[in-house]
Amino acid sequence: MPDRVLNAMHQPAPNIYTGALLDMMDGLVADLKAVARTRHHVAIYVSNGHGGWEASLVNTTAPGEKVLVLVNGMFGQGWANHAAGLGLDVEIMDFGKNAGWDLARIEMRLRDDPKGEIRNILCAHVDTSTSYKNDVVGLRKAIDEAGHDALLLCDCIASMGCDRFEMDAWGVDVAVTACQKGLMVPPGVGLVFFSDRAAERQKNLKQVSPYWNWVPRANPEGFYQFFNGTAPTHHLLGLREALNMIIHEEGIENVWKRHERLARAVWAACDAWATGGPLEMHVPNPDQRSHAVTGVSIGAPTGTALRDWLTENLGVTLGIGLGIVPAGDPEWHGHFRIGHMGHVNAHMVLGTLGAIETGMQALNIPHGPGALAAASKVCAGRL
Ligand SMILES: *Cc1c(COP(=O)(O)O)cnc(C)c1O
Repeated sequence: MPDRVLNAMHQPAPNIYTGALLDMMDGLVADLKAVARTRHHVAIYVSNGHGGWEASLVNTTAPGEKVLVLVNGMFGQGWANHAAGLGLDVEIMDFGKNAGWDLARIEMRLRDDPKGEIRNILCAHVDTSTSYKNDVVGLRKAIDEAGHDALLLCDCIASMGCDRFEMDAWGVDVAVTACQKGLMVPPGVGLVFFSDRAAERQKNLKQVSPYWNWVPRANPEGFYQFFNGTAPTHHLLGLREALNMIIHEEGIENVWKRHERLARAVWAACDAWATGGPLEMHVPNPDQRSHAVTGVSIGAPTGTALRDWLTENLGVTLGIGLGIVPAGDPEWHGHFRIGHMGHVNAHMVLGTLGAIETGMQALNIPHGPGALAAASKVCAGRL
C-alpha cells in the first residue's frame, strides 16, 4: 500500500450528506470501470473478495440452478464452495494444481449441454494459491464455439491492476475483485463489474437478497444506495488516491508492464537458483504465470525454515504455500510464494530477491549463482 493512499485516508470524518465525498463518486465509478476495461456496470460492496463471490452468484442464479466451476487451485474451489452453500448445483471441472485449463475438454462439456442447464461458468483468472494465470480469451472462444449461452464469471481478485484483463473485449459477463491487491487499498471493499447480459439475467430472478442486489448500487438514486447504507468513507478516499496513481498518473498499460517486468525479474532469479539447488517455480510455462505472485517449492521443511528466517532476521514476509498440499501434511513446509502485486517497484523486488538469497546462504540451502545479476538485467530492460 502506498503511503499516499494511507495519507489520503488520514482525514477527519467527512460529510456523508453533501459535499466532496458525494461529488467524488462519478469519477470514482468511471475510473473503476477503466481498470476493469468495461463500459458496463459496477457495484461497490463493503466486503472482501468472498463477499464479491457471493454477490456475483445471488445476482445471476436461483438455488438449484447449475454452475460449472473451473478449478486449478484453492480459490476456484473456494468459489465453488460458496456456490454450493447458496444451494446451487455445482459441477467442478478440476485440472489439478499443476495445470492450466483444458479448453477442448471444457468445450466438449458445453456441447454436451443441449438444454443449456449450465447457467454460469465460474473461473479464477489468476489462482493465487498455485499462481496459475488462466486463458480467459481461450475460454470465451471455447464457449462461443460450443454455442453455449452461459454467463462467464471471472474472479480477478489477484489479477486486476496487475495482469492485463479486458472485461468487454474478452466477453466476460461478471468480474469480481477486491480493493486490497492490485488496487493497493486496505481490505474492505469488494467490487463486482457486470455486463448488460448479466443485468438482464438478474431481472428474471424471483428474488435477490436486498443487501447484495447490484441494481441500486450500480444505479443509485441517493448516495447511500451505492453501499446499501453508510459509505466506507475512508476506503473511498484511499481508493480515489490509488486510482489517481493507476489511471491518471502511471496509466493502466504501464501498470501492467511494470508488473510484467518485475515478475520476469523474479522468474530470472528463480531460474538461476534452480540451476544449483532444489528451488523450483510451480508453473513451468511463463505464459501461464501470474504477474502478481510466484509460487515456488524448495522441499520440506526448507520452505518454512527459509520463510521464518527471513521474517525474523530481515523483516521480509514471504507468502505461505497455499493449497498445493493440505495444511498439516509435512510436505506443506516445502512451498512458499513471492508476492509482487500492487505498489511494488524494482528496488522492492530486488530487495526481496536479495533477502531470499541471503536466507539461502544463512541456512546453507544449495542454489545456483547469478540470480541477482539475472534479475537486475531484467529490471535494466536488457532481457
Ligand atoms: C485473495 C483472493 C480471494 C479472496 O479474497 P478475500 O478478499 O480474502 O475474500 C479470492 N480469489 C483470489 C484469486 C484471491 O487472490
